[in-house]
Amino acid sequence: MLAFAIRYLGAHAGVMVTASHNPPQDNGYKVYLGDGSQIVPPVDAEIAAHIAAVPSVASVPRVEDGWETLGDEIEQAYVDAAASVVRPDAPRAVSVVHTSLHGVGSATVEKAFAAAGFPAPHEVSSQQAPDPDFPSVAFPNPEEPGAIDAALALAGSVRPDVVLANDPDADRCAAAVDDHGTWRMLRGDELGALLGQHVIDRLAAGGGAAGRADATAGVDGVGAGGLGGDGAVFANSIVSSRLLAAMARDAGIAHAETLTGFKWIARVPGLTYGYEEAIGYCVDPQHVQDKDGISAALLLTEMTAILRGQGRTLLDVLDDLARRHGVYATDAFSVRVDDLAIIGQIMARLRANPPSTVAGHQVSRADDLTVGSPDLPPTEGLRYYLDDDSRVIVRPSGTEPKLKVYLEVIEPAAGGAAAGGGAGGGAGAAGAGDDGLPEARRRAAERLAALVDAFRALTAP
Ligand SMILES: [Mg+2]
Repeated sequence: MLAFAIRYLGAHAGVMVTASHNPPQDNGYKVYLGDGSQIVPPVDAEIAAHIAAVPSVASVPRVEDGWETLGDEIEQAYVDAAASVVRPDAPRAVSVVHTSLHGVGSATVEKAFAAAGFPAPHEVSSQQAPDPDFPSVAFPNPEEPGAIDAALALAGSVRPDVVLANDPDADRCAAAVDDHGTWRMLRGDELGALLGQHVIDRLAAGGGAAGRADATAGVDGVGAGGLGGDGAVFANSIVSSRLLAAMARDAGIAHAETLTGFKWIARVPGLTYGYEEAIGYCVDPQHVQDKDGISAALLLTEMTAILRGQGRTLLDVLDDLARRHGVYATDAFSVRVDDLAIIGQIMARLRANPPSTVAGHQVSRADDLTVGSPDLPPTEGLRYYLDDDSRVIVRPSGTEPKLKVYLEVIEPAAGGAAAGGGAGGGAGAAGAGDDGLPEARRRAAERLAALVDAFRALTAP
């Protein structure tokens, strides 16, 4: 809502105090400038220098008045904008369980669902009211094991079409679906591909996506889209799956890769849809130049409702995507350290002794991301491509004392596209279970596990 309000009011800056998806003691603040995006260098360092120059907080003179507390009209304007991502003609019959994990999302989600014409979501009542101590979850990130257990328990009795969870400041959105009787959390990359497919379907049907940024400059190396000249642009961070790029290429949509974080993704000129694997989605860049867990929840609910009307589910769409583009299997792990210097030592070791063969495959290309390129500003990190088209990125976390490793393998699915491109086309009329997809997924999981093992050894402290 803050990212929206900055643009709506024409403000010069916005500040939010939040622990976001972190434990309550990790309260920090987010800073936005007048374009409604989070700050990027050099502004971050300039602000830090000003903070460092202050001897103590108590010494900063404060005024007694001169501010204005905004009324509910801002929330209403935001709710109206968010609800507008849902097409007027989309079906509304859908059942949703939702939790805001003790954060601020529930009331706004409830209003946005009502404004969009959806039935009220079934809220996890014990996590519905904002509570800055996040009492029932150790780590209020929907991705963390156990974080959405209360929502899944409620889903057991409600049997909804989808379970949705926002982090406490509601800019992230996670989803769980019924997978043969068990609720399964979708990976951030899976949800990213699903929302991307939904936007592609809407573009193909005409009438445009939910929204797009007002910048219209082109992106280097990619032409305007082939969908009625719409000129749609998709984007994701470099550590997210390459599936969205394959989908965009197939649909004639421009695609850009950015550094991690929505401060970069939201700045892609002409952005139509952007995501990052850490369950961040921007489906309405025209109104919010940041990830937004509420508009993402609405768009996924619309997609679920359409599929329900067809007797299908989100998992069916993931199967379609795997048949068409191959199985894109992603994983990630963190190496936590007590001493930040250890991270530097691991990175130095990888640079001094670059791996030539990993998990039985040759490293066909290695990029030192500190060099930077015309498309990508320099950032600390190493990227490897193997001869089987697997990709691994090693980078220090920007916010915590840990090294993060992101891995992806691409496994061709029978009847579908080969890894690394090639002819498109679906699997034809083969029924579920007999088209080689389970076998392709099994092979992908095996290759991914081997890659994880190899990189755990390469990045061990
Ligand atoms: Mg957050």
